[in-house]
Amino acid sequence: MNASDSERLSSGFEQMGFDSSDDPITADVVVLNTCVVRQSAEDTATGMLGRLAKIKRRDPGRSSRPEQVIAVMGCMVGPDHSELRRRFPHVDIWARPQQFAPILETAGIRYGLDPEGCLSGAVPTNPHVASFIPIVHGCDKFCTFCIIPYRRGREISRSASEIVHEIELMVGRGVKDITLLGQNVDSYGHDLRPRIDLADLLEQVHEIGGLERLRFLTSHPNDMSVRILEAVRDLPKVCENVNLPFQAGDDAVLVNMRRGYTRSQYLEKISQVKEMIPGVNLTTDLIVGFSGETDDQFERSLDVLRTVEFDKVHVAAYSNREGTFASRKMPDDVDRGVKKARLAAVDELQKEIQTRNNASLVGNTYHVLVEGRKRGRLQGRNRGDKLIYLNNPITDESGMSPYPQPGQTVLVEITSSSPWSLEAKLAPAGYSNEVNHVNGVNREKVPVA
Ligand code: SF4
Repeated sequence: MNASDSERLSSGFEQMGFDSSDDPITADVVVLNTCVVRQSAEDTATGMLGRLAKIKRRDPGRSSRPEQVIAVMGCMVGPDHSELRRRFPHVDIWARPQQFAPILETAGIRYGLDPEGCLSGAVPTNPHVASFIPIVHGCDKFCTFCIIPYRRGREISRSASEIVHEIELMVGRGVKDITLLGQNVDSYGHDLRPRIDLADLLEQVHEIGGLERLRFLTSHPNDMSVRILEAVRDLPKVCENVNLPFQAGDDAVLVNMRRGYTRSQYLEKISQVKEMIPGVNLTTDLIVGFSGETDDQFERSLDVLRTVEFDKVHVAAYSNREGTFASRKMPDDVDRGVKKARLAAVDELQKEIQTRNNASLVGNTYHVLVEGRKRGRLQGRNRGDKLIYLNNPITDESGMSPYPQPGQTVLVEITSSSPWSLEAKLAPAGYSNEVNHVNGVNREKVPVA
C-alpha cells in the first residue's frame, strides 16, 4: 500500500518539476511515508523525524534549511494527531494515507510552483511493469492485535470507474501485471451504491486491452466469496494466486485475536479454494507467540502449515502494539526466546515444504513476465507468482541482452529450484504448443512439460 502511495505522490511531484533525491539534507521536500503496523516501525519513523528536525533547524556545520518542506504521510497520522504536532513542530504537513493534495500544495506555495493538474488521479508516470493499485482503504474487522482500523480508518472503496480509468492509463504506460490492493480486498464495494463486489470489479478490469495479468490481495477468509473464486477460475487474466491469512491454528487463540472463524472453517475455505482453482498458489500470514499462546496451541499452527503446504508464509512474532484491544486487555506474555524458537520452527518447516514444492516444478514450462534485473540476472514471475531467474538471455555482439526485455512475456523451462525461487532457460521454439490452454488462453494452472 505504502509503496504504491509513494509512487503516486512521486509522479505528482515529477509533474510539478521536482526531481527525486535520496539525500534528506539537500532535498527541498522530504516526505516520510509511514507504516506503523508494528511498534518498531513507528519508533523508526519518530527517530527519523528527530534527525530531520536537526537538518531543518540547526544542523551543525551546515546552513539551516528553514524553507525545507517536511511532510509525514501514512498510518502514523491517525484521525487525532495533535500529540504528534506538539512533539514535532518542524513538520509542515501531516497527511492521512492517500492525502496527496495538501503535500503538493504546500510544496507548490513554498517554491512558487503550481500543482494544478499534477494530481490527475495521481497515476504513476513511469510505473513498474508489475504495479499495484489500492482499491479499498481501511479495514472494518478490528482484529485485537491490529492497529490498522484505528489509523487507516473504516473501509472506503474507490469507484470502479476511477480504478478502471487509472489502470487503463497505467497499461498505456507499459504495465502488464496489476495487483488490486486492500487491507481486506474481498470486502471491496460493500459501501458503494449501487453495490458491487470484487468479482464485478475483476470482470471490468479484465476487459482492459493490453493488460495481461490481474491479481489481488489481501483476503479475509470470511469475505472470500464463491463469486470471487469463480471470477479467479473463469477470467483468464486473473492469476491463480490467493493470499489467505490464517494467523493462528488454534480456536482459542483465534477467538482472542477476534478473527471471526475457527480452524476448521479456515481449512474448509482452503479446500474450497483448492477445489475450485486447481494448481492455485496459496500464501498466508501467521503470527506466533500471541498473548497466552501455549506450545500445544502453536503446534496447531504448524499442523495447518503441514496440512495446507502453502507456497509462501509471511510469519511474524507477536509484539505489543499500543492502541490496540490486545495491548489494553491481553498481556504480551510469551517469552521472547520462545517466540524466536517458534519463528525458527515455522521457517524450518516452510523451507522443507517449499523445497519439495519448487523441486516438483523442475522441467515444467511457464510463461514468465520479465520484470527487470536482480543480482545481475533477468528475473520475472509466472502466473503463480513464483520468482524465476532467467539464465540464457539472447545477447547481441555488444554483449547487451536485447531479448527478452522487461515487459516481455517469454516461455521458459525450469532448470533448477531453491525454496525461495526457480531458475530457468528460454524454452526452445515450438514449446509453446505444449502449453496448457483453458478458455483459449494460456493458463498454466496445471504444470506443463
Ligand atoms: S483484517 Fe487485517 S487489516 Fe483488518 S484488522 Fe484484521 S489484521 Fe488488521
